[in-house]
Amino acid sequence: MHWVTGALVIIGGINWGLVGLGMVLGKGSAWNVVNLLLNSVPTVEAIVYLLVGVSALLMIFGCKCKKCSVSMDSAQSTTV
Ligand SMILES: [Zn+2]
Repeated sequence: MHWVTGALVIIGGINWGLVGLGMVLGKGSAWNVVNLLLNSVPTVEAIVYLLVGVSALLMIFGCKCKKCSVSMDSAQSTTV
């Protein structure tokens, strides 16, 4: 697995956690960090969400790139 994939899933998870916290505290989506940072460039914001989603899918189904399939063959347990 790529560190980028893991980092994006973590960013998405933390961001979603903060959105939930903001809702509990009655501030709506004010705590959406990705939105706060990128609301001036909605295209980039959308790309971040897409990358988080794709990263989660790669995490679930496994990356099919050459680098990952090599590491899967040699050390399957370390890729999980
Ligand atoms: Zn890969």
